Amino acid sequence: MTLRMPTPDEAVLARRAEIVAALRAIVPGEGVIDDADELRPYESDGLTAYRQPPMVVVLPETVDQVAAVLRWCHANGVRVVPRGAGTSLSGGALPLADAVLLGMARFNRILAIDYADRIAVVQPGVTNLAITRAVEEEGFYYAPDPSSQIACTIGGNVAENSGGVHCLKYGLTTNNVLGVELVTIEGEVLRLGGRHLDPAGLDLLGVVVGSEGLLGVVTEVTVRILPRPETARAALIGFPTVESAGQCVADVIAAGIIPAGMEMMDRPAIHAAEAFVQVGYPLDVEALLIVEMDGPAAECDHLVDEVARIADANGAVSLRVSNDDAERLAFWAGRKAAFPAVGRIAPDYYCMDGTIPRRRLPEVLRRMSELAAHHGLGVANVFHAGDGNLHPLILYDAHKPGDLERAEEFGNDILRLCVEVGGVLTGEHGVGVEKRDLMPEMFSDIDLKQQQRVKCAFDPASLLNPGKVFPTLHRCAELGRMHVHGGALPFPDLPRF
Ligand SMILES: Cc1cc2nc3c(=O)[nH]c(=O)nc-3n(C[C@H](O)[C@H](O)[C@H](O)COP(=O)(O)OP(=O)(O)OC[C@H]3O[C@@H](n4cnc5c(N)ncnc54)[C@H](O)[C@@H]3O)c2cc1C
Repeated sequence: MTLRMPTPDEAVLARRAEIVAALRAIVPGEGVIDDADELRPYESDGLTAYRQPPMVVVLPETVDQVAAVLRWCHANGVRVVPRGAGTSLSGGALPLADAVLLGMARFNRILAIDYADRIAVVQPGVTNLAITRAVEEEGFYYAPDPSSQIACTIGGNVAENSGGVHCLKYGLTTNNVLGVELVTIEGEVLRLGGRHLDPAGLDLLGVVVGSEGLLGVVTEVTVRILPRPETARAALIGFPTVESAGQCVADVIAAGIIPAGMEMMDRPAIHAAEAFVQVGYPLDVEALLIVEMDGPAAECDHLVDEVARIADANGAVSLRVSNDDAERLAFWAGRKAAFPAVGRIAPDYYCMDGTIPRRRLPEVLRRMSELAAHHGLGVANVFHAGDGNLHPLILYDAHKPGDLERAEEFGNDILRLCVEVGGVLTGEHGVGVEKRDLMPEMFSDIDLKQQQRVKCAFDPASLLNPGKVFPTLHRCAELGRMHVHGGALPFPDLPRF
């Protein structure tokens, strides 16, 4: 692995047996894993280019155990990496050689459902889809729907502020979480928010959602549940150029229409998906939009007509509208299978995640093609077009020397382009280790230090998930007093990644 991570603390590594014994005293039975073979499944997350077995894995079952583990680690200066299902695509759950990996998989119970208040209280290891499964018989669902929803946990969703196809209309995780219980590194149990809207005081819930496991360990989540819309209809629209499809997306939103989902695929992605699931996608187009409307039937029909009119004005060459749910789901089947489908056209792909202002879509897609030619690598685009959230899949071959490095450089150039046009480094996958070193492209040194002061308020010793999100590790006591004189950097012992 070429990634620079905090140097393992040799003194901690030398105490491994003592640390394992202390954890076993807190979490008895099979809740502590220290065997090398059994640690292997935990050595990476969804960003599989990077691997590092953890020092030890602990799988607590109760909040008291989580608090005791964190309190012990804090008292003994041991780092901790929280983990849900390990599907992060930004390396958020990547272990450290000298850290305890705190897995939350055993927190898998739905604690309460209140249809009158339209909330569910769940443990963090419950999968995203399991929340919908638990309430669907009563006609409800949980709106944020990452493609990984069958596997990823709500705790991971909170930490990454995850999104999905339906977030255009219904918001990201942050808009659908009303409260969390959080255990700090000192073992204190906090409650932020609850069943009500907008509590008084500072919005610490807003700070915690998207904090990537750097501020505390989430042990309970209160989410909104929504009644299923009366109907849903989808339009499958083909365009002769990606630019015209991009312009159509911008025009739909500019017309005041907020579809339930608006996704785009380019030619390589369309062909890969069609070969994989054969749902009848047009193969003679350069870009395909899937636009879904939901709500009362009359409203859906009207909005589908409006979208068709806008698509026509942008030179759409094919249009199909779903007549029943089976057809609507068939439209989505190709999109949902697009990632594994792209996996069949190249030995490896690297999934990027950046967000741009929607009106810049045509320009960004054109410049991305130029970057692909420059780096000599293919790219397939599958993305949440309505949010301006791009997911370019960079095609490479990990067995070809230099290919991974070229893919990473291409990915970095895409993210720089996103920032250049007024966008951001991530839409939903988080910063993790993947985008950590690009943070200064977007934030000034002052911005970054202020964010780190927030981290210090929760975790002064920087024991929770260090090496993620921030490109430089500041010691909290020194923040704000750093002054570089004559090029001599103070605190040269501190790692700068
Ligand atoms: C095929 C595939 C498709 C995907 N599609 C999408 C998509 O459409 N939209 C999207 O947003 N993401 C997507 N992802 C990314 C990923 O699924 C999400 O980021 C998800 O929220 C991670 O959840 P997890 O349970 O796997 O968390 P992990 O990967 O285990 O951890 C992610 C981060 O959360 C922290 N964390 C986990 N649990 C806790 C906790 N209880 N308390 C504090 N911190 C915690 C970890 O430290 C880490 O920083 C996809 C991933 C894959 C592999």
